[in-house]
Formats: sequence, C-alpha cells, structure tokens
Amino acid sequence: MSNSWKKGTICIQGGYTPKSGETRVLPIYQSTTYKYDDPDEVAALFDLEAEGHMYSRISNPTIAAYEEKIAQLEGGVGAVAVSSGQTATTLSILNICKSGEHLVAASTLYGGTFTLLSATLKKFGIGVTFIDPDAEEEEIIKKFRGNTRAIFGETIGNPGLNILDFEKFSRVAKKMRVPFIVDNTIATPYLCNPLKLGANIVVHSATKYIDGHASSIGGIIVDGGNFDWDNGKYPELTEPDPTYHGIRYVERFGNAAYIVKARVQLLRDLGVCASPFNAYLFNLGLETLHLRMREHSYNALRLAKYLESHENVSWVSYPLLESHSTYSLAQKYLPNGASGILTFGVKGGVEAGKQFIRNLKLAALVVHLGDARTSVIHPASTTHRQLTEEQQIAAGVAPDLIRVSVGIEDVEDIIKDFEQALRNLA
Ligand SMILES: *Cc1c(COP(=O)(O)O)cnc(C)c1O
Repeated sequence: MSNSWKKGTICIQGGYTPKSGETRVLPIYQSTTYKYDDPDEVAALFDLEAEGHMYSRISNPTIAAYEEKIAQLEGGVGAVAVSSGQTATTLSILNICKSGEHLVAASTLYGGTFTLLSATLKKFGIGVTFIDPDAEEEEIIKKFRGNTRAIFGETIGNPGLNILDFEKFSRVAKKMRVPFIVDNTIATPYLCNPLKLGANIVVHSATKYIDGHASSIGGIIVDGGNFDWDNGKYPELTEPDPTYHGIRYVERFGNAAYIVKARVQLLRDLGVCASPFNAYLFNLGLETLHLRMREHSYNALRLAKYLESHENVSWVSYPLLESHSTYSLAQKYLPNGASGILTFGVKGGVEAGKQFIRNLKLAALVVHLGDARTSVIHPASTTHRQLTEEQQIAAGVAPDLIRVSVGIEDVEDIIKDFEQALRNLA
C-alpha cells in the first residue's frame, strides 16, 4: 500500500506500521542486542541467510523504520543510516572504490565534502578529478580514466546554489558505466528525487532538513537499485566475499547488493552507525518535512526578492530567481520549491557583510543550515576557510558571500530583521 502513497503520507506514516495493540508512535529500541533461543538462528544471521537484528552496530528496529521511510521517500530499494553526512558520503564511495581507483566530482561541493575528497580520500589512495558542472559532456568524459568508479555531484550546490544538470550527468554516468552519486541534502527527498532523474545512489546529511530542528548529527545512504554492478568494474560486488563464506552480493541480493554490502561490510568493520535515539528524532523531523520544505522554499523566495530590490545589496543568488545561472534547471528539477538556502552580498564587501551579521536580531550566526530557525554564515571565513582562494571561487564562494538558511518563522518578521540590519550598516 505504501508504494502508492504520496510524499506527505510517507513523511508521516512510512516505515512503521504498528500491529494491533502496539505503540502508535515509532518506539526507541535503546538496546545494543537481541535475544535468541537457538544458536542456529544466530548462525543464520551471521551468514546473511536470515533477516533479523543481531547487534545495533549493524541494524536496529528504530533505525530500520527510519531507513525504510527515507528509502520510500527517495524511491530506493534500501537505505543505511550512519553517524553523519560526512560518513554517508565516505561510505557511499568506499563501498565501490578502493585504493588505486578514481572519482569524478563536481567542484561545487559542500566544503566538508570537498576536503574529504581532495585530502582524506587521497590519503586512502583514491584519486579525484574535480570538474566544472557546467562543462560540456565531452569535457567531463575526458576526465574519466580506466579506474574511475563513480561520478559525484550535489542537487543544489553548496553554497553556489547551482542546480545539477541531472540529464547530462546521468548520460555521462551511463556512457562510462559508473554509478552517479548525488548528495541531495539541501533539496531533500520532498523537493527532488535524484533516483528518478538518473542517479543511482543518494546521500544525505540528515543533520539538516531531515532533522530540521538542529538537534542531531546523522547521515543516510539510499540505493536506487538501478545500476548494473556486473560490468567487470565492481568485483567486490560480484566476486565472493571471504568474510561471509564466499557470498556474492549481486547473486544473493540482486538489486539491493550495494546497500546490503554497505551495511554488512562497512558498518560491521568501521562501526559508524546511527543511534536509535537520533533515528527517532530524524523520524519525528520527517513527519513535518513536507510542510517545512514548502515553507522554507516560500520564505526563501520572498526574502530573495526582497533583497534583490534593496539598495544596499549588491547581488542575490537563489535558484528560483530569474537572474540565477541555473534558473531553467531549477524550474525543471525543483517544481515544488528550491529549498531554504539563499546567498547574497552586501554593498561594502566583506566588512559590511560582517557588520550586517552583527546587526541581526532574529536570525543567528551559526555553523549550520536547514534549521527551522533562520541562520546566517560567512562561508569564506568559516565553512570554506580551509580552501584556497581559487578553490573557493571554483566552489562558488565569493569573498563577500553571506549564506542564509531561511527558517520557517513568519517571513514578514524575517524581512523586518534583514531590513533593520541593512539600514544600520555604518
Ligand atoms: C552538512 C552537509 C554535509 C555533511 O553533513 P554532516 O552531517 O555535517 O556530517 C554534506 N553535504 C551537505 C550538502 C551538507 O550540507
């Protein structure tokens, strides 16, 4: 039945269906372990012959319900919740890419992802070539090597707010026979479903809009079940895994091979699991995702238009402003709204921008986005400060850029706050 539900219904009821007499609300199974009567039952779990929970590093009923809700919202075959968005990105790659292999990634990434790919994965022996996401298809294809194992991008670039050209990226991925991995954090599964636009794997920082209230750090990986791993490039999915008595993931788990492997190998070995309590909070957050994302999108567009008309503002960027470089892609891929993030520059540059931030009363300076409360940050001196100036420009971070995560307070009050902060610039 849940297959035919609309997103708002999945947000509220997906993933958990209590039986008669059970708790109406998803319970928190705060337990590391599970009781069994027969050693053979546990043996079957260890051999992946039976489904069930054995240890909460690998799976847990509260987490499983939340994973199922996200998988339904994204239209995937399964999901694995992990300790953070950074972990989701890391595992999504390590699951199919090892030392000596290579990735192609859009340069317009979240700062933490950029350093993960360019610095830390490099130490693991995984090479990355960054590309301008606006480059022609042939240019992108030229960056591929024989050992390239994935192409990576973000639905809404952070903080450039460029919308990914799903058609082009998925065409490249298909041609080069590698999976297309998309970070869908800012759009959320309510506003965009990359798997329906040619992506194969989706990752999220659940810390942002999925939580929605700035309470917990978490990440999640969703498998589209729509990639043919049996093309010679992914032996770890097609050849026997000696740590599970030689099972072959594709043979045994079919189109869920990737996500099963991420759980039973990487969660088992690296231990970067989510907590049941955080899964409970993410599930609670998801219950209003559809309402919040409509409101975040509405407020952000209203504020963007207000700022565009303000004499002390030098520029404004929001995907659904006609002036945005990827406006037509936003119209195509984000018909229900472009989320709550906008960026702008104050006349007077960096110093005036800092004064503007000091002047705000309702909006707060925080290192975060996707909260119900409006927040602002100056990326060049904070989230992207570990990048060189050229890397900052390539990532879409102008020196005077202020990033706003527009909350769901009454938009009239948000505008009033920005109005007084702009008026009181020295
Ligand atoms: C925050 C963020 C991440 C990292 O997520 P954490 O939960 O903070 O580890 C990754 N991608 C994007 C787009 C983000 O905004």
